[in-house]
Amino acid sequence: MNQRKKNIVVIGAGPAGLTAAHEAVKQKMAPLVLERADRVGGIARTESYKGYYFDVGGHRFFTKFEKISALWQDLMGEDFLKVPRKSSIYFNNHFYNYPLRPLNALFNLGINESFMVMLSFASSKIRPYPKEETFEEWVSNRFGQRLYKIFFKTYTEKVWGIPCKQIRADWAAQRIKGLSLTATIYNALFGFQNSKSLIDEFDYPTRGPGMMWDRLQEKTKTGGGKVLLNSEVISLNHENEHITDATYIHQGKRFEIAVEHLVSSAPITSLVTMLKPKAPKEVLEASRGLFYRAFIIVIFIIDKPSLFSEQWIYIHSPNVRVGRIQNFKNWSAEMVPDPDYTSIGMEYFCNEGDDLWTMPKTELVGLAARELAELGLADANDIVDEFVLRQPKAYPVYDQNYSNCLSIIQEFIASFKNLQTIGRNGMHRYNNMDHSMLTGMMAIQNITGCNHDLWSVNEEEEYLENEKKKLGMQEKITFTPFTPKDFSEM
Ligand SMILES: Cc1cc2nc3c(=O)[nH]c(=O)nc-3n(C[C@H](O)[C@H](O)[C@H](O)COP(=O)(O)OP(=O)(O)OC[C@H]3O[C@@H](n4cnc5c(N)ncnc54)[C@H](O)[C@@H]3O)c2cc1C
Repeated sequence: MNQRKKNIVVIGAGPAGLTAAHEAVKQKMAPLVLERADRVGGIARTESYKGYYFDVGGHRFFTKFEKISALWQDLMGEDFLKVPRKSSIYFNNHFYNYPLRPLNALFNLGINESFMVMLSFASSKIRPYPKEETFEEWVSNRFGQRLYKIFFKTYTEKVWGIPCKQIRADWAAQRIKGLSLTATIYNALFGFQNSKSLIDEFDYPTRGPGMMWDRLQEKTKTGGGKVLLNSEVISLNHENEHITDATYIHQGKRFEIAVEHLVSSAPITSLVTMLKPKAPKEVLEASRGLFYRAFIIVIFIIDKPSLFSEQWIYIHSPNVRVGRIQNFKNWSAEMVPDPDYTSIGMEYFCNEGDDLWTMPKTELVGLAARELAELGLADANDIVDEFVLRQPKAYPVYDQNYSNCLSIIQEFIASFKNLQTIGRNGMHRYNNMDHSMLTGMMAIQNITGCNHDLWSVNEEEEYLENEKKKLGMQEKITFTPFTPKDFSEM
């Protein structure tokens, strides 16, 4: 069969959509990617302001999937830096090294509090919550109530905007798996001294993740794929369980294109509303039951060559609204055009339409400047310029209803013979870049006759063992179970 004839349409040129297109080109097909924005990269894009580069939330590159790692290396070559992670937690006027260092933690907590932490840990082992349905129960059973309150509760509530009692345990299981208090202490005591594998470092393109997506786009185009920017898909016709054609708007004009296979990384909630004839009532209702958390970043350019040594600081203190602070030149020196200046990203988690989301730019800048000074990280008088970016649908929310709603939509989507959803919002799954890319790769392999279950990616560790064989991956995977890498995004 001549694969080139297959009319593959990919919605979205984020990591998932671009990887799908690249894989299609590798398989001798000619995909068309339709991207609403004026650039590639989706949430993982790199923005720039007056020569200062910044991510929409710092994006670390780490993966257990050899195929993805090989692709990253191939795309970035020498422009892929190995960055030793340096991050900390700010709580109760103290900076805790993160990952934890015992002496630092002991010093900050004090002897009494450290003793209480151990008591509370012991009590959680003797009398754990019998059922682990919520985030609070899952974490408390593993770390004890006291550590949960210091290191998890306030920050998690800032990220999600809802009490931890309302966050499902699935989320913790997916994001904090492999981490326990014993493991954390083991890592703190021995990891950074003896074992190279326990040193936490990550990869990062010299001028941010956007470089990766630009190169992936170029490679896809060189191979015969098309990436059409400023092209928003608005409707999808279907008949006999097949998507037949897609309508998109490009430069104010409507275009229709026949579809043989559709691979979509658009939010699953918008995908179902694009269908014509309409999706069944219960599916539309389920899509209204899925929610997202949005994200604002206030960038400050500060007239100081250096402010702090961390790449980012988690702000657990409940008295300020900022959730995390990035220091982009500590990710890569090339993120700033002038070494005498520093660029800081004050990150706020919010809901579209809430007070933060609708706050005028000047007020947001005022709030962020006050909080930066209150935390003692910089003097507001040293701020020379600022930039504000709002990112809708940054985090798919795992609330108590999401899994029922998602199953209804999943079942409906599975009824189509030529439709696959990929990526993060495409699957309403808390996928990192590598998971998102892997689903894109697999979706195309399914079109060529494979039978990958995309929904299992990022769900079960055992899945990796089976799939890496199918994908021809090497046996060895790089995975450090003791390091809480999965907090990167939080
Ligand atoms: C704050 C933050 C920090 C993160 N940090 C990390 C990290 O450190 N490491 C990591 O691995 N991952 C991280 N992630 C996750 C990472 O951003 C995602 O895994 C990745 O961007 C998902 O890629 P995607 O292609 O599935 O989706 P997206 O990046 O959302 O891309 C989807 C694309 O589809 C386009 N689109 C949507 N609807 C339409 C339509 N109707 N028509 C045409 N185009 C459309 C969008 O414009 C977008 O470009 C982070 C995420 C956030 C929010």
